[in-house]
Amino acid sequence: MDRQMELEFAISAVAQAARLAIDVQSELAPQDALAKQDRSPVTVADYGVQALISFALQKAFSNDPLMGEESSDELHSDAAKPIIQKVIERVTAVEPMIGANEVVRLIDRASHAGGATERFWTLDPIDGTKGFLRKEQYAIALALIEDGEIVAGVLGCPNLSVSGETTGCLLAASKGHGTRMRSLDGSHTTAIHTRAIESSTDAIVCESVESGHSDHSSSAQVTDKLGITSDPVRIDSQCKYAVVARGDADIYLRLPTRPGYQERIWDHAAGMIVVTEAGGVVTDVNGKSLDFSNGATLSENSGVIATSGAIHDRVVGVVQEVLGS
Ligand code: AMP
Ligand code: MG
Repeated sequence: MDRQMELEFAISAVAQAARLAIDVQSELAPQDALAKQDRSPVTVADYGVQALISFALQKAFSNDPLMGEESSDELHSDAAKPIIQKVIERVTAVEPMIGANEVVRLIDRASHAGGATERFWTLDPIDGTKGFLRKEQYAIALALIEDGEIVAGVLGCPNLSVSGETTGCLLAASKGHGTRMRSLDGSHTTAIHTRAIESSTDAIVCESVESGHSDHSSSAQVTDKLGITSDPVRIDSQCKYAVVARGDADIYLRLPTRPGYQERIWDHAAGMIVVTEAGGVVTDVNGKSLDFSNGATLSENSGVIATSGAIHDRVVGVVQEVLGS
């Protein structure tokens, strides 16, 4: 199965939703965000993108379930009334086929639990919400998982441009068919590949901006031991996978900040296939494959390491030395 129809659907759904995200970010107001129960931020764009992609999926593949990061739980309070009003305005402006009273149902339709023997989609509508609020990098990440394996994925990166272009980019991959990148406006599609470097000394490392999401002091020890002299590039969201896939960076380190944190599958599924289909390798910090068959989290894994490929084992070895010490 080549899943080209699924990939075409995901590309057009992500590109359409990116328009909403770009508009919200360009006119961002303090009242566009609220704090979830875990105190992480969520915005009009997170809800709006989830509603749009949920609608598009229902139309294109009506039997396919969706696991999205957001739910309407926080939207029922009085404080959230202005937010839901704005979500409805933004969503219906992009997709007039959606009725105002349908928006909350579309957000909550994305409540699939995942599992080992399912075909389902997973969505992070705005990955890197903190970067989105800082007007920096963020990604719209949509992936298709079948029987625990990622078979297609799309990353929309509205603030990550292709050289010489003024729009952001979109990366798309399906199993066995490589990774392609295009500008968000649809022009120039090219196959992309990770960068082949001779020695890990020359590697460019990227990591989270947020030190609460990845341990910056351990990663500094890792780069030191690898003999890397350049500073790490700090980028929010799965744009880190995008820069490794297209050869702008060679290593993405996500080192646990505390024992017991389980990575969410929507934070990695699209990014992982975009990197592996471009020639890279993605594992956890122990060199173990990421296991997407356990519901919403990577409960059998710890942290993430993505590399351009040939240097992977060496990087995992050094991470083991640092984390073990
Ligand atoms: P990034 O932009 O790479 O820093 O990652 C953003 C994602 O980090 C969010 O979507 C959260 O799901 C996730 N996150 C939240 N807390 C943690 C944590 N303690 N460790 C790793 N990831 C986290
Ligand atoms: Mg996320």
